[in-house]
Amino acid sequence: MTTTDRPHASSARGDQAREGGLLSVVIPCHDESAVIDATHARLTAVLPLTGMEHEIIYVDDGSHDDTLEKLEALAARDARVRVIALSRNFGQQAAMSAGLAAASGSAVVITDADLQDPPEVIPEMVDRWRDGVDVAYGRRRARDGETRFKLLTASLFHRLFAAAVPYPMPVDTGDFKLVDRAVVDAVNALPERRRYLRSLVPWAGFRHEPVWYDRHPRAAGVTKYSPWKLIRLAGDALVLSSDAPIRLTWAAAAALLVVGVAATLTAVVGALAAPEPRTAVSLSAIVAVASLVAAVQTFSVAIVGEYVVRAYREAQGRPPWVVRRAIGFGPEAGRAATPSGAVTSARAA
Ligand code: UDP
Ligand code: MG
Repeated sequence: MTTTDRPHASSARGDQAREGGLLSVVIPCHDESAVIDATHARLTAVLPLTGMEHEIIYVDDGSHDDTLEKLEALAARDARVRVIALSRNFGQQAAMSAGLAAASGSAVVITDADLQDPPEVIPEMVDRWRDGVDVAYGRRRARDGETRFKLLTASLFHRLFAAAVPYPMPVDTGDFKLVDRAVVDAVNALPERRRYLRSLVPWAGFRHEPVWYDRHPRAAGVTKYSPWKLIRLAGDALVLSSDAPIRLTWAAAAALLVVGVAATLTAVVGALAAPEPRTAVSLSAIVAVASLVAAVQTFSVAIVGEYVVRAYREAQGRPPWVVRRAIGFGPEAGRAATPSGAVTSARAA
């Protein structure tokens, strides 16, 4: 789905700002030692084709392998590499948000570390951006290397999610996208701590257009998402971005009410027609009905709880990530440390 029919309309900041300039690339990395050098090589081969200066911001999200050492080595030999080392594993959403907050480009590309999203698509995204598109998001034509189960559940979830969110939401798309500075600023300025960027970027509005591409299998290493972690992420995405689950409890309440009224009427009519009760209700029927009602009620309370717990987390006000080290940002490294006032204790190296 697109949110504009006018890909050639002028941008929010005027098209002149889109010639040359700096392109930032943000890459969250968790245990990506097996692939990171190859990723860097592919990126640096392709980024000059954009006609922009570039910086690559790797965010090490508490890796246990030697990803950080490899990133440090890249930074030591390439002045355009910046590294943000988070103090532990805060999750991909936090890692990407930390990178977005530290990026100083007039456009920012977000991509995974594992080459599933081919860097060769980036110049096309930049072209779209120059045409006036504010968010050029990668839309997957094909996805090799995923199980049928994952493809089906992902497709279903994307469509359910798009229906549940009250603003236009692209489907069949992941984190791979180019985002204009105006949109980056809007997202960085949000005070919320727990961030689901796939819905925050569409929330910000502006002009979105797809760039179609084929998603490849992971070049090396393994996925960091177990099915359980994916389910948690999906739950987070829904509750953070939509009120639809709460509305569902209204629907459940209404359905129970209808059943209750119908059952009462049936009982009254039955009693009037035949004052002597002739039918005995089995115990198992009572247990079944009681369990159903209890299940619906407990389910509703659990849904409310999901919102309450997130409200509580926001009230606690903890930063969504903590920076242990920032490398390659130079003395003006402040940006790496203070996105929307949320991050503490970075020091430039
Ligand atoms: N990632 C991260 N923190 C995490 C999990 C993942 O920064 O806790 C990064 C990971 O290194 C990769 C991207 O997020 O660059 C997507 O992860 P992955 O490729 O494992 O997910 P999949 O493509 O299998 O859904
Ligand atoms: Mg991947």
